[in-house]
Amino acid sequence: MKLSYKNSSNNQLLSRAVLVLNANYAPMMVCTAKRAICLEILDKVDILANYEEKVNSPSVTLSLPSVIKIRDFVRYDNLSVDLNRKNILSRDEHICQYCGDKNSPLTIDHILPKGRGGQDLWENLVTACKPCNQKKGNKTPEEASMPLKRKPKRPNRLHYFYKYINDKQEEWKPYLFMEPFKIN
Ligand SMILES: [Zn+2]
Repeated sequence: MKLSYKNSSNNQLLSRAVLVLNANYAPMMVCTAKRAICLEILDKVDILANYEEKVNSPSVTLSLPSVIKIRDFVRYDNLSVDLNRKNILSRDEHICQYCGDKNSPLTIDHILPKGRGGQDLWENLVTACKPCNQKKGNKTPEEASMPLKRKPKRPNRLHYFYKYINDKQEEWKPYLFMEPFKIN
């Protein structure tokens, strides 16, 4: 079946975001509706919710999937985020957590310095501009009188899904722990 039509509204619908759940309902990723329909045709997924809109071709009318669940469980720690420089910067929104600057070159600072037993943990690593990192040196924030803008936390991937949600993604919310499931 051919899913790319010249019809531009169909193309827009086919690029609509679809929430993909693991076989145990854990949120895994977001894919396009086009990909979701292909997976459905291959019998790899169950459709849990559809958008209101339909995709029309000359011969068929297809439902537009909104939430799908894969049939075979994938071993995948879906909610953890790798601890690395890129993800620390992203958690801190590329803002120095000491002075709020975002224009200076950014570094990663150990809140409790490494030389004093500070570990490589989400809770001990923050984005710091070069001047702040140098000024803080081998001190703690308290010793350097440089309080943190906010307490650093381990991020989780739910934020990744939240970015996709607007008024059309109501169906996603129960699967992302944003509202309780309705119990009949
Ligand atoms: Zn700074």
